Amino acid sequence: MSQRKFVLYDTMTKSAKELVPQEPGHLTFYSCGPTVYSYAHIGNFRTFLTADLVVRTAEALGWRVSYVANITDVGHLTEDSFADAEGEDKMARALQSKEGERFANVWDLAEHYAQAFVSDWRRLNLREPKVRPRATHHMREQIVAVQRLIEKGFAYETPTGVYFNVGAFRDYGKLSGNRDQENLMRAVREVVQDDNKRHPADFALWKKDEKHLMQWFSPWGWGFPGWHIECSVMAMGYLGETLDLHAGGEDLVFPHHECEIAQSEALTGKPFANHWIHTRFLQVEGEKMSKSKGNFYTVRDLVDERRADPLGLRYALMSVPYGKPFNFTMQTLRDATANVERFRLCAERASEGLAAGRSGEDAIGPELEALYDEALDAMCDDLNTSVALAKALEGTRVILRENELSGACAASAQRFLDRVNALLGIVRFEGEAATMAESAPDVDEARIEARIAERDAAKKAKDFARADAIRDGLAAEGIELRDSPTGTTWKRKAGV
Ligand code: AMP
Ligand code: ZN
Repeated sequence: MSQRKFVLYDTMTKSAKELVPQEPGHLTFYSCGPTVYSYAHIGNFRTFLTADLVVRTAEALGWRVSYVANITDVGHLTEDSFADAEGEDKMARALQSKEGERFANVWDLAEHYAQAFVSDWRRLNLREPKVRPRATHHMREQIVAVQRLIEKGFAYETPTGVYFNVGAFRDYGKLSGNRDQENLMRAVREVVQDDNKRHPADFALWKKDEKHLMQWFSPWGWGFPGWHIECSVMAMGYLGETLDLHAGGEDLVFPHHECEIAQSEALTGKPFANHWIHTRFLQVEGEKMSKSKGNFYTVRDLVDERRADPLGLRYALMSVPYGKPFNFTMQTLRDATANVERFRLCAERASEGLAAGRSGEDAIGPELEALYDEALDAMCDDLNTSVALAKALEGTRVILRENELSGACAASAQRFLDRVNALLGIVRFEGEAATMAESAPDVDEARIEARIAERDAAKKAKDFARADAIRDGLAAEGIELRDSPTGTTWKRKAGV
């Protein structure tokens, strides 16, 4: 295990703090996932990428990571920034929208967007979580948790639902700073939703609703859970009462994470998470993403429609450290894609060099080792991706400086690229993501045909290393080539 310290800015203490797993070398980590009422946008993916980079950095330090990332498929209301959310369930509203017309029911809608989400996740080469739990699969545990909160005096029933009594939890507000009455009242909707609530900021643990599209039977009749209780229950259920690290986007600090803390700590009497990180919102072309402004991009908008390179998109989204404001532009994407191409070229050169086995000294190994170490240092410094990417890119300059790689240089280049890929995920697809192309809804047929033509040309020129590199590159995307006397055909590899 590495002796490096992994430092992350902690929202709770408002300071850069060393991440210290309770069990040395084993990180327990929960990251809030999407609400599957629509396709996730690239802003959402900026946040999921932060979690991915935490996992990769921890693994690079030799840690084991128990990583849980949920899917929210019930209970997330439209007006979710108030202390006690209100409005409609996002899932139910999506079903009634124009886009919802194609689904038979809300369950089909959830399934569709959940699958699309996982497929986009893999297209961005994000590490698979150990568990990807869904709120609707954990209803019994949520009901039991609400019941226990009532028994312990932290929650009470009214005609409209069950509410958490913020007055009973002394530490309410410790994450967001919404501690005193003045701040708390600012976060409250002026219109009182339920006269029986003891404090306007008391938030729903359970909503009574016999007409709701997704409903379960509980000790309080038919209804559905509040949004926050799912994360408390699933995080503690899979990872234990105290997590090493909890993550999400900046809008989740309040009320979502504040409420998770209140519920969980009221239940256990123990700290819920020892470290909290939040990703700053992504802006696009200088503005908040919105459909009406035409700057609202999903992964599929960019990859399927605009033919963006998924690894280029990944690179672009991590080009600015997660804690800094980030204005995404098409130029950022173009630059990032050009950089990913440099890594691919290096990978081709390395495999060519290994195949050719030319003699010669390893003139680049020590330099590449040092650059990798600096990239890892940067990641351990609050995920400083801009420095880490710059160091990795400097490595490509070192590799491409050589006209032809000796076998020894090629081996060093290969090792560097493998390690950079494990840390940053920008050279090639790996693991589950490598097979994801099979399950991706669309493949870019023209691009595959062009690669096949390039490979034919390389074979004619007897550049077999290049031909093989092209075949391997496509294989990593899940595309299998078949050569026959009449030409080359391709298909998606079976599986997933
Ligand atoms: P949601 O699907 O709305 O529950 O959001 C999923 C995750 O994406 C949450 O952690 C949000 O905080 C995060 N998120 C939403 N919008 C953005 C954005 N523009 N930039 C970065 N993260 C975002
Ligand atoms: Zn959550």
